[in-house]
Parts: sequence; C-alpha cells; structure tokens
Amino acid sequence: MRRALGWTIGVGVVLALAGVLLFRIPAVQDLLIRRMVAQRVASADWLLAPDALRVALCGTSAPLPHPSRAKTCTAVFAAGRFWIVDTGPSSWNNLALWRVDGAKIGGILYTHFHSDHIAELGEFNLQTWAAGRPAALRVFGPPGVERVVAGFTEAYALDTGYRIAHHGAEFLPEATARMEPVAVVAEGPGSVVVLEEDGLRITAFPVDHRPIVPAYGYRFDYRGRSVVVSGDTTKTPALVTAASGADVLVHEAQANHLIAIIGDAAEAAGRGRVAKIMHDIPSYHTTPVEAAEAANAARVRLLVFSHLNPPPPNRLAEAPFLRGVADVRPQGWILGDDGTLVTLPAESDVVTVGRVD
Ligand SMILES: [Zn+2]
Ligand SMILES: [Zn+2]
Repeated sequence: MRRALGWTIGVGVVLALAGVLLFRIPAVQDLLIRRMVAQRVASADWLLAPDALRVALCGTSAPLPHPSRAKTCTAVFAAGRFWIVDTGPSSWNNLALWRVDGAKIGGILYTHFHSDHIAELGEFNLQTWAAGRPAALRVFGPPGVERVVAGFTEAYALDTGYRIAHHGAEFLPEATARMEPVAVVAEGPGSVVVLEEDGLRITAFPVDHRPIVPAYGYRFDYRGRSVVVSGDTTKTPALVTAASGADVLVHEAQANHLIAIIGDAAEAAGRGRVAKIMHDIPSYHTTPVEAAEAANAARVRLLVFSHLNPPPPNRLAEAPFLRGVADVRPQGWILGDDGTLVTLPAESDVVTVGRVD
C-alpha cells in the first residue's frame, strides 16, 4: 500500500517537472497561449439571444473602496442588444472580461450624475466605437445629460483624433465616435416611456435622492418579463409603484448601522471629513431591510441587492450587512456580486440566477 502510494507520488512529481520543463519551450508556450486566447476573444453572443431578458451586474459597489467590485453598473440584455444603467468606475473592465460585443450596445441610461455612476462614460463610448458601433452612442438621463456628454466628449477629443489618425477614418469614422444625449423628463408620480424598440420598452420613473433632483429608476419590459433598477433613492412609494409585479428588482442598499460604525471610527482616528460624510449619507439611500420591504410591497419575484454601501469586504461581512433582511423577506433575494447574471426566459415565470463568467 505504502509502496503504491510512493509510486503515485513519484509519477506525479515527474509529470509536474516534465510540465514545467515543457512550458519553457517557446513553441509549447505559444500553443497553450493560442488555445487560451482563442477562447477569450470570441464574443459572448449567447447573452444577446432574444429568447430571454437578462440582467448582469457590471458594478455592485457604492463609492467606498473595494478591491474587486466595480462601482455602479447594471447591464440589461434584450432584443439582441445590451443597455447599460450607469457607468461606474471600472465597470467597462467587467464587460470586456465577459467578452460582450461593444458594437451591440443599445444605449446608456443614467439614473443621476453622481461620480460613482458616470465616471466611465468616456471609456464606454470609446470601447464600443472601437468595437464597430454603427452609430452615435445614445445617452439617456435626466436633464443635465447634455453637459455630462459634452464634458466627456471634450475630455476624449484628443484621444479620438489620435485613434482616427492611427487606424484610419474608414475603420474608425468620426461620425460614429459621437454621443447623442437624450434628456428624459419624468416629473411627478408615474413613469415615462424612454423608448420602444424591437419589443423592448424602457420606462423611467422619478425616485427620491434629494438634493439630487431629478434622479430616476428604470424599468425594462421585454417578451412578458421585466427588470427594474432602482437608482439611488430613499425608500419611496414611487419605486414600489414602478416596480409593481416586476420579475427582478435591482435595488441599491446602504447598511446605515455599519456606516455609523465607520463614522465613529473615522472620528476617533481624527478623520473628521470622512466622519462628516458618513453622517450625511444615510439621508438619501435605502437600507437593505427597507429595500426588502419595498420588494415585498411591489410583489417582485427576485430582489437583487447592488450599489452596496459599505461593500462587504468578504463573505463573513455579508451577514452584518444583511442583518434583518431575512426577517422581512425570508426568500426571493440575493446579494449581488460583479458578474451575477439573472436570466428570465421569454413568456415564462422562470428566474435563473447564475454568473456571466
Ligand atoms: Zn450612488
Ligand atoms: Zn447618488
């Protein structure tokens, strides 16, 4: 028995050594790299199949730092295209890692213009243009979207020129590098239709993120299925009305009991400015428990927590973040991660939770 084990270990060591030696040979390196690259350059077109409404989280953190979560971004795949609600810092990197074909972008929708929601607009525009987007990028948002688009356009103007000069205007036409701002006016209760295309209807509704006015949430309806993205808001009846009967509600979540602890620690550490901010921010966000209450009131099938503040640094920290949620809503919710994918097959009641990657 002992002898057989010795043999097995011996053979394993020899094989491992042989593998290490083989990988030193350039031709073997190139072969393995070719195989790996071939898998990674192919587009993930399955996400765009029109058989379902899909929602993927491309950024799940609020402004506090986190080593691996990008800031706010939600991608909705419908009718052969994808739509992005908010472009937080590092969020394009997720879409690139998932190999989403940038040419298939339908548009960007802004809930409001806080920096953790808009920072990567320039990158989204550049990358989808380089991928062969056939027209200007539509950017929807509250009034003010024109200023944001103009600013990013100016900031990227030199880069746009460099790339046209380098790759040629035929490959990267100046006309398709443009962004087209579309101001959406949603005042008072109720929703306004942002667009209807190929069976997809997107509506905007005002939420309560005062003093940021207006701030919106968005609802996507496609082939009998629906997804609502809350944007940043306190608990508000407007969201419950707009999310009524939706399959999925992607809701912001701020654990104020943890924000208070961070504020106290910052005060004790002599970081008064951090303490002041921690003191101010509970007034315009929703706690996980309140989000669960809203999901119950709206009778949604699945609540997905995103825009997490503070973003839990590890699995252990998720329990205190979610304290009290299970008492209000025992099931029908998940804590979102970058890469969480929810699939809603057309004309059905099925809700599947998985990962994009
Ligand atoms: Zn935010
Ligand atoms: Zn905000």
